Amino acid sequence: MRFSKLRLNGFKSFVDPTDLIIADGLTGVVGPNGCGKSNLLEALRWVMGETRARAMRGGGMEDVIFAGTTSRSARNFAEVSLQIDNSDRLAPSGFNDSDQLEIVRRITRDVGSAYKSNGKDVRARDVQMLFADASTGAHSPALVRQGQISELINAKPKARRRILEEAAGISGLYQRRHEAELKLKNTEQNLLRVDDVIEQLA
Ligand code: ATP
Repeated sequence: MRFSKLRLNGFKSFVDPTDLIIADGLTGVVGPNGCGKSNLLEALRWVMGETRARAMRGGGMEDVIFAGTTSRSARNFAEVSLQIDNSDRLAPSGFNDSDQLEIVRRITRDVGSAYKSNGKDVRARDVQMLFADASTGAHSPALVRQGQISELINAKPKARRRILEEAAGISGLYQRRHEAELKLKNTEQNLLRVDDVIEQLA
């Protein structure tokens, strides 16, 4: 699985559709202060399922939508699409039926976010799991923001362990375990209710 293109449309300062081609090897982004370098990285994190508005440097998730300037009016939606070369067929099952994957996230004011994979509606959880299983994602240690190195140096062992688990591609298992535990709890509640009913009937 290899990222090949990021497209931004109405996302933060990228009001017009903008493509970033991600070629083989190292990609460098250079430009003057405030030109949108960090916004690009945030777009990548966002399309992979980021849910924390603060990680996007905003108060609410709708702050990622182009807010307007003196010469251009604000937009009503923001969209980011990530093209993935899946010719090695390493994407997890459910996503692994084509050589090219396109994951799209769109947020509309007062409506919220929606995701698509190759044009089909998918859940946020599925997208987050896709990237977690591929050892990347919104919280990936491969995405290093400003000030993060010193945070890492000062991190407690538990936090460091999370980074190693992320790199080993097992962080998706925690989400699955949590969901399994919730299901188990529900089932236990249902069994208690069945016991009550049986007792009343006896
Ligand atoms: P630096 O080199 O200083 O870190 P940078 O190149 O990383 O800067 P960014 O922080 O990515 O720049 O971009 C900041 C710019 O994005 C600012 O001009 C800010 O006004 C603009 N911006 C952020 N959110 C929005 C939004 N919702 N609508 C319009 N513009 C936005």
